[in-house]
Amino acid sequence: MIEKSKEQKVLIFIFGGTGDLAQRKLYPSLFNLYKKGFLKENFAVIGTARRPWTNEHYQQVIRNSISGMEDTAKQATEFSRHFYYQSHNVDDSEHYVTLKELADQLDIKYGIDGNRLFYLAMSPKFFGTICKNLRGEKVTSDNGYNRVVIEKPFGHDLSSAQSLNDDIAKYFPENSIYRIDHYLGKEMDQNILAVRFGNNIFRALWNNRYIDNIQITLSESLGVEERAGYYETAGALRDMVQNHILQIVSLLTMNAPVTFTDEDIRNEKINALKALQVYTPKEVAENFVRGQYDENGDLKAYRQEASVDPKSLTETFVAGKLHINNMDFSGVPIYIRTGKRLATKATRIDIVFKNMPNNIFSDTEELMPNVLSFNVDANPGMELTLNTKKVSQGGYALENRTLKYTHDEATQAITPEAYEKLILDTIKGDTTNFVHAQEVFYSWKFVDAIRKAWDEQAITPEELTNYISNSMGPKASDDLLARDGNKWIFNP
Ligand code: NAP
Repeated sequence: MIEKSKEQKVLIFIFGGTGDLAQRKLYPSLFNLYKKGFLKENFAVIGTARRPWTNEHYQQVIRNSISGMEDTAKQATEFSRHFYYQSHNVDDSEHYVTLKELADQLDIKYGIDGNRLFYLAMSPKFFGTICKNLRGEKVTSDNGYNRVVIEKPFGHDLSSAQSLNDDIAKYFPENSIYRIDHYLGKEMDQNILAVRFGNNIFRALWNNRYIDNIQITLSESLGVEERAGYYETAGALRDMVQNHILQIVSLLTMNAPVTFTDEDIRNEKINALKALQVYTPKEVAENFVRGQYDENGDLKAYRQEASVDPKSLTETFVAGKLHINNMDFSGVPIYIRTGKRLATKATRIDIVFKNMPNNIFSDTEELMPNVLSFNVDANPGMELTLNTKKVSQGGYALENRTLKYTHDEATQAITPEAYEKLILDTIKGDTTNFVHAQEVFYSWKFVDAIRKAWDEQAITPEELTNYISNSMGPKASDDLLARDGNKWIFNP
């Protein structure tokens, strides 16, 4: 039985309605919300793109994209009837007039009360034009909410991010702009705040007095696949560090929010990112490592992939050491790494605590540092390693044991996919798990300094560190930690 309060009233516009993101992620997520009763009678979706599709064809595309998820064919058909298509070139302001007419009709037909969500699932170069026309041609409503959802990448450096933001902020206030970072929709990333601020043992320990170092790994096993066109201009630093990794860093190092509200949480995340030490070129060389995947058996080297420049200097791997200069984290190295064609696909966070100041057991019994780990993707859950007594007849030996919980099958089955959670948040008006403009700006400021230092280094393709496909990156990444007497805890 679905309680009435769950049901949301919304008219969703999907710009880029024929695209990959819409078909692979957005339509299945909307269908799940429909099955769960969050979307029921009072919603409609207008998909727009240039292709001259009919409503009937669009509805068939919707049914195809949710194929296998439906309980009955009737359910899929009823869901798809809420979808309308309008062929539309976003540069042509005339089309916004017809878009408004259709929107106003659907608003009445479905009793939506003027709530409008504009999902921009297309290239950021169009965002400014779309926002200007939505306001200029009054596609926005006067009686409900008007929210814009924006996909990554949000700029390719600080200055482009600022100008993109200016283009949007002229027409929509900050609290109605939802910048998606789908890592923020993942259960175990969201769990970071629960563990940190819901458990007194961790509140007491979560600082530079007790944490030795933090390690974050976002590894992908796939290569560049068909995204080479974009990836050649981005690289791992822009594609993964600027957004996903720095968002995780901010959740791990932010101060406690005064209240658990989106405004307070985002303010503290902004402060954490503001405290990131922006490196000089010399510091970049000391603290950052880049690499590119090399062939291994049947696996091609990055430079052999289709649409990749055979002399490409684009990094497919980054490892680095970050510093957050605030009271609690100053002096704690935060090691990060991400890359393509690594040994496994995983998102893993390891909090390594300082070892005991004194080992009372004996010179032969080694005490291992306690490590709290979050497994974000595969087998979501957490682990905590402890030194414990080894069962024995006599003597007193220690052994390292791991307390572990993993979401069981039933929990995993009901865990919403990141996009589904985030789309529901946009409809409900909860900005907690969306990136504030200031977070974007501080992240770019940090990343730009690294990019600039690398771009100014005149290296040849041969001098870029290579790593064997299916490994965990170049040796230089291990050396980065070894110089501090540390090593990667996550070693698949
Ligand atoms: P895509 O498959 O290339 O889709 C682009 C969409 O834009 C298509 O529907 C295209 O339709 C439409 N379009 C292009 N020019 C247009 C114009 N002048 N007027 C109206 N419509 C136009 O790209 P995508 O992979 O879905 O990605 C969309 C956005 O999401 C990008 O910013 C991307 O970086 C981001 N993103 C995607 C993913 C993903 O998994 N795909 C993940 C993260 C972020 P027509 O050709 O019919 O006009």
